[in-house]
Amino acid sequence: MESIQILPDEVVNKIAAGEVVERPSSVVKELVENSLDAKATKIIVELIEGGTRSIVVADNGRGIRKKDIPLTIYRHATSKIETASDLFSINTMGFRGEALAAISSVSKFTLKSRHISEPMGGVLKISNDEELLSPVVDSYDGPSGTIIMVEELFFNVPARSKFLKRASTEYAHIFELIQALSLTNPSVDFVLLHNNKEVFRAYSLDESSEVTENSLRERAKAVFKTDADKLIYVEDKNDYGCIKALISPPGLDRPTSKHIFAFVNGRWVKDKTVRSGIFRGYHGHLLKGRNPLGVIVIEQDPSLVDVNAHPAKTEVRFQYPGEVGALIALAIRSGIRQGGWAKSPETIQASPRADDHSNHSFNSYNQQSRPTSFDAKLRSGDLKFNSAPGVESSIDIKSGAPKTFRAGTLSSSKATFSVPENTKRSIMTFSGVDQNTEQLFDKPVMSSDKNENRQIIPWQELEFIGTFAKCYLVFEGTHEELLLVDQHAFHERILFEKISEDRNLLLQAQPLMIPENISLGAEQVACLQEMVSQLETMSFSFRQISETEVEVTKIPSLLAGKDLCELFSELAEHSWNESGLKANAEIMENILATIACHSAVRSGEILTENEMTQLLTQANSVDFYHNCPHGRRVFRWFKKSEVARWFDRL
Ligand code: ADP
Ligand code: MG
Repeated sequence: MESIQILPDEVVNKIAAGEVVERPSSVVKELVENSLDAKATKIIVELIEGGTRSIVVADNGRGIRKKDIPLTIYRHATSKIETASDLFSINTMGFRGEALAAISSVSKFTLKSRHISEPMGGVLKISNDEELLSPVVDSYDGPSGTIIMVEELFFNVPARSKFLKRASTEYAHIFELIQALSLTNPSVDFVLLHNNKEVFRAYSLDESSEVTENSLRERAKAVFKTDADKLIYVEDKNDYGCIKALISPPGLDRPTSKHIFAFVNGRWVKDKTVRSGIFRGYHGHLLKGRNPLGVIVIEQDPSLVDVNAHPAKTEVRFQYPGEVGALIALAIRSGIRQGGWAKSPETIQASPRADDHSNHSFNSYNQQSRPTSFDAKLRSGDLKFNSAPGVESSIDIKSGAPKTFRAGTLSSSKATFSVPENTKRSIMTFSGVDQNTEQLFDKPVMSSDKNENRQIIPWQELEFIGTFAKCYLVFEGTHEELLLVDQHAFHERILFEKISEDRNLLLQAQPLMIPENISLGAEQVACLQEMVSQLETMSFSFRQISETEVEVTKIPSLLAGKDLCELFSELAEHSWNESGLKANAEIMENILATIACHSAVRSGEILTENEMTQLLTQANSVDFYHNCPHGRRVFRWFKKSEVARWFDRL
């Protein structure tokens, strides 16, 4: 055994099978991908016992020429590439030419196929190594297309068959796979049968094979069921590729990451760059341990992505991972901002978290309350809230004089907010429309933009009842709904919209009379150094004074009086992530979110009437969405009937 020998093909195939054919779902993946490459418009997958006993994949694709049938089971036999340079322009699912060789070496394998241009097809049966060495093709008189049957997978590789999981586990993997493939192949009719029962069906969408919002939405219905309607569609592109995605709004999530399907050039991938882009997009919008759901479809020039990084082709190697991550993250961020997180009283759970009960008394709105720094800035004119462009606010910011606003302790007195007529509307944009929420309001206004349903929140008609736990503003709506608003998230959202819309708001700088030294980690200081130019455009001025310290001399006035150490260490986080430097646009957006968060009124700060009126005026003059830039819920409606149920009145 010491002399070196070249291994015989059947041994080589079995070794390769270890990589390509890990389990029944990998067989199904390879076979269905072959059907897709053959331009099939109908693919039927039939399993017995989760595919451990038998897998059949039948398609109506173009078929295989009879003379080529014996070649299919040879290693590196493929019709999809010819030269090494083709590896950089792959637009088929397969190209390695090893799947059928591997599968047929570890199973009882039957292939029937007729090519569309030939009158007669062929059948090839393999159940032992001898047949593998000299395959015989009989005639086949079936319709054009291909049927492949794989029985008793790993029957001749006992070590491997031991690792096969229970049939139900294998079935679950295949089910997930067919769902995934159906999402991005709208023109294909998919049928999955398990133990002779149809378990999944996605009808072909009679349109081109291109993925569109409509195709994603249609296919998502079969996969995500009722949650499909809540998904938000986003589309974006940068110099490195484009993205189309249906993403879940914050609040709609899952305990595992199985429900987010990502594709790169049509390939379903479980890739770390993609994953990190997704989680960066959702940063702050997901509770720990929760995962989003949806579909992410990325298209790139094939030369920018190496799909030959993994035998099962589930991982890819991006030439510009940072840019791809940014493309995903920014698209998700914009989708989240688009809104859609409008849970109606019908759908929300009436079970506030335990920590929401920390303070059970409703604090009345306190006119004498100590002005917060927020109010002080308003009075001094340091902080200017702009109403909608060209609109004069009717509120006297400087004097803080009471307007028509009245508030009481759970009072029945109606408070009306005097808000300029043309700023009265706060508009939420829904791509994932929540019909129930629309019914809440008298006259939902549909925008002329056909992709969006815009809905008005009548802030000016709400009655302010009081503040709960120095954190939640309590209102009564015009139809006897209860509205709880998180004052910090609300203000943060408003500020974020305003400064994103008008960066000039950040030009108002506050020089520090006494420069402030901030101690940070060496890595954080290095990160801040990388962001100097971006931060300078936002009125920050600082310099490194040691490995671990920066000296801050100027900040945007919005941030006057805030804890700079906390702020700077958060800002430092924005320049990097595990897959490298972020793109400029993403950094800028993150900086704005941080500024908004740190400038906003905190929970525990008692709002004065003036501040309150300001907030509501602001709510009416910016596009308002349900969540703050960090994704926390901003407000929540409760229907009267729901409250009544708590007290057994229904
Ligand atoms: P690859 O897909 O990487 O080329 P495979 O081993 O999966 O390698 O398939 C070998 C070849 O067999 C393919 O290149 C293709 O020409 C042919 N083939 C396999 N399955 C089908 C099918 N369902 N329809 C048409 N041709 C097929
Ligand atoms: Mg293949």
